[in-house]
Amino acid sequence: MNEFMERQVKLTWHEPKASYDVVIVGGGGHGLSTAYHLATRHGITNVAVLERKYIGGGNSGRNTTVIRANYGIPEAVRFYQRSVELYQRLEEETGRWIMHERKGLLWLAHTEAGVRAERARARVNTAFGAETLFVTPGEIKEIAPEVDLTGGGQWPVLGGSYHPQGATARHDRVNWALAEGAMERGVHIHQRTAVTDLLKEGDRVTGVMTDKGPIHAGAVVSAVGGHVTALGRMAGLRLPIRTHPLQAFVTNHYALDFHPIVASMSLLFYASQTARGEMLIGAEIDPQPSYSYRSGHHFLQSCAFRAMTLLPFLRRLRILRQWTGVCDMSPDYSPIMGKTGVENFYITTGWGTWGFKAIPAGGEQMAELIATGETPELIAPFALDRFARDRTLADRGSAGTH
Ligand SMILES: Cc1cc2nc3c(=O)[nH]c(=O)nc-3n(C[C@H](O)[C@H](O)[C@H](O)COP(=O)(O)OP(=O)(O)OC[C@H]3O[C@@H](n4cnc5c(N)ncnc54)[C@H](O)[C@@H]3O)c2cc1C
Repeated sequence: MNEFMERQVKLTWHEPKASYDVVIVGGGGHGLSTAYHLATRHGITNVAVLERKYIGGGNSGRNTTVIRANYGIPEAVRFYQRSVELYQRLEEETGRWIMHERKGLLWLAHTEAGVRAERARARVNTAFGAETLFVTPGEIKEIAPEVDLTGGGQWPVLGGSYHPQGATARHDRVNWALAEGAMERGVHIHQRTAVTDLLKEGDRVTGVMTDKGPIHAGAVVSAVGGHVTALGRMAGLRLPIRTHPLQAFVTNHYALDFHPIVASMSLLFYASQTARGEMLIGAEIDPQPSYSYRSGHHFLQSCAFRAMTLLPFLRRLRILRQWTGVCDMSPDYSPIMGKTGVENFYITTGWGTWGFKAIPAGGEQMAELIATGETPELIAPFALDRFARDRTLADRGSAGTH
């Protein structure tokens, strides 16, 4: 956060205490949301969020801000629908303008198999609480007239699904709204404070070691995004996570109003328009696992080519900026939330390329778990032990990446 924003957003900084009831490692959306919900829903305010850089400096400030619940399996539809609904109320609840805008989301299908998949998605979504409709090419043209239904002569649009609640919100504002809301209730946030190890007594985690000294805690939550493997190792855990870079870019301003979010699962890109008029475009993860934040020309060339195939007007625009985040990819493309088997140590991870939309519900549910000691029903299927129990939640087709 720069100095200008620090003056606009009312954050009150404190010196770290020697101990807290709860220490949350990682000041991204999930860490901040967990702190916010601990304070607002459970009155637990003796909480510290430790962030090694600045809040929202990880993926929560680098994403393409798509919010949706059109997932492919019941457990995920229910969970993300809860988050979609919490996002719809977040401005009113926090009293902060997060620039939430309902846009509707189109997922385009270019093959018979794709059409079947989108029909099935519409049914599963409707059955488990998220509104999604199957749409014909004619209906797609009405929702997004800019789409070339011939797909450049190579990727004809045969149908798709339309998710009216698909939305976007300004990522920084989401982070700051949650941080302000938590801090004004007494939560401490410590930026530029890196956790370098965990404090343990036997198998129990009793706090964290930071680059500024030890902090004791009744519970420690790992919310460190793509860096979870290192933190997990400190607890003696080998997590089923691989970290992959994910890139995105924006163009200069597009004069016309491009209302919906448009995605193609065959061409692997999605596009929406920001409040400033830029076209914001994202795609699949880099194939090679790494922690590199470098952006590359290959991605730009290939992603821009695919996007222009369906949205030819993009040819007239210029690319202004590109950037990268590092994503915690789980093997089944579903998140991992909850207890770890290590006493007092909780994780929220596996958010991969899809965790911005989950920030409100993820934090709400993690806070309930920490406050009550009981895993809420909504996130029970996403527990870490599902891999050992052979109860994985395969949903790759909904992740928006391959
Ligand atoms: C380009 C891109 C586009 C995306 N688009 C979307 C989208 O459209 N919709 C969607 O739902 N999701 C999207 N995502 C995914 C989404 O951004 C993430 O899943 C989500 O932000 C994860 O939040 P988090 O709080 O878990 O992690 P982060 O926001 O990454 O926060 C983790 C924090 O932990 C800190 N940290 C790490 N190690 C330590 C340590 N040892 N000590 C202290 N602090 C530490 C980091 O500095 C970081 O700030 C996208 C991601 C990227 C990169």
